[in-house]
Amino acid sequence: MASRVIPVDDFDLVIFGGTGDLARRKILPGLFRRFCAGQMPPNARVIGAARSNLDSDSYRQMVREAIGEFGGEQACDDAHLDAFLARLEYLVIDARGDDGWEELQTMMLGTDRIEAYYFSVSPVLFGDIAERLQKWGMADSRARIVVEKPFGRDLQTARALNKTLATYFNEDQIYRIDHYLGKETVQNLMAVRFGNMLFEPLWNSQYVDHIQITVAETVGVGGRGEYYDKAGAMRDMVQNHLMQLLCLIAMEPPARFAPDAVRDEKLKVIRALDPVAPYHIVRGQYQADPENEVERPGYRTAVDNPKSRTESFIALRTEISNWRWAGTPFYLRTGKRLAARSSEITVVFKDTPHNIFGEDAGRHRNVLSILLQPNEGITLGVTIKEPGPGGMRLIDVPLDMSFAETLGDDDVDHVDAYERLIMDVIRGNQTLFMRGDEVEAAWAWTDPIIEGWEARNDVPKPYDHGSTGPTDATDLMRREGRKWQKITQ
Ligand code: NAP
Repeated sequence: MASRVIPVDDFDLVIFGGTGDLARRKILPGLFRRFCAGQMPPNARVIGAARSNLDSDSYRQMVREAIGEFGGEQACDDAHLDAFLARLEYLVIDARGDDGWEELQTMMLGTDRIEAYYFSVSPVLFGDIAERLQKWGMADSRARIVVEKPFGRDLQTARALNKTLATYFNEDQIYRIDHYLGKETVQNLMAVRFGNMLFEPLWNSQYVDHIQITVAETVGVGGRGEYYDKAGAMRDMVQNHLMQLLCLIAMEPPARFAPDAVRDEKLKVIRALDPVAPYHIVRGQYQADPENEVERPGYRTAVDNPKSRTESFIALRTEISNWRWAGTPFYLRTGKRLAARSSEITVVFKDTPHNIFGEDAGRHRNVLSILLQPNEGITLGVTIKEPGPGGMRLIDVPLDMSFAETLGDDDVDHVDAYERLIMDVIRGNQTLFMRGDEVEAAWAWTDPIIEGWEARNDVPKPYDHGSTGPTDATDLMRREGRKWQKITQ
């Protein structure tokens, strides 16, 4: 069953940082795929803007190559590519100067199309761009801006950034992107939770033993060493991606599936999060791969900082102090250079109150697994009788709830989070974007944890390349009689 594609209204999208890595890898190939799918209207325009001295033709050539490299399976035929490239323009613009802005103004003003401005540049330039959009008359009520992470590095800087953007734009014009929220399965999680009678009555501390969220990467810091060493896993992953997943899994049912109704409930979760005690956090730093230290150096070598105390791994336990979740632990874990690339949320239900089969407690538990990458899907582990003769022996089997076969996977599996979110910007739907107060609340929870490490001069524990992190992370669960899900592809 092919999914329905509803074209969006005509739009002009300006990508500041249109020559950068994110634009080439995600934004432009994503737009191309939406063009091929018939969702991007034929008259929509995409305007790349950056300092590099290109003209529109050489920009189109750059984008052609980027789509060739990162276009993905849906990249369609050459005629479509030519038609898409014909919708592209390029302007040389310095976010901190005056060159190029008048040309942009000429292109943007006097149309009645949707105007979107994607700030795919370093956050230090957000204020400069916002200020110039206003100066040149483009920050009108039709304008929408998309801002990338990192949104601040602590509560103070996030507040300052929110304040700067609020000088020029209303909150309903600001789209703070977290691409995890654009994943098909994340939305499916909400459908499964709030569209079925089955789960919601069990979705609380009475029936759920604990919840785990893991985002494991096999890559190291790569070329982002300088940025990463100032951020670490807590700022780079936990404060945004893991926190957003935690919110969706733990929030109360919103009254409507509408932007502020959903975001109000997410905010309540963040505000109800308990502070994390030092013995409930494990930080780690990856070691070199002994088989190839040159290509896969240890963390400190990779960031060129032999005394670095920044974590490339974190595991922590927290609780949510509200009626639904009091007493249910939430375990979060993320790290680089781990055994496999895998993102998964796991809801582990409690034992049945009485086991009539005489099996050991904890042996068979329902486990709901929400897989986000590398493959997306939802499975529910249920206990059944092992088929065949030989008495009543129990086994656990997964029920696949992603229904790829039933629905067909034509579009479902291949719509990248970025392309979905960009189309939401054009549609004016903020449900899957973070609101300013959510981001600030997340920092308000994160800041004391980071300040605690700094005050204690905490040194991350080393862990082996290709492992599951420091052994202390395993102990974090084991001492409470629990264990992490395996990190597998
Ligand atoms: P990047 O590869 O370094 O690209 C930066 C872009 O900004 C380039 O197009 C650059 O072009 C332009 N630029 C720099 N200074 C400028 C100025 N003064 N005026 C106008 N344009 C300027 O960075 P990126 O990886 O694409 O990341 C962009 C943003 O997305 C960052 O905020 C990053 O944190 C965020 N992000 C990136 C990724 C990713 O996968 N790459 C993932 C999540 C978030 P010129 O040098 O030609 O001006």
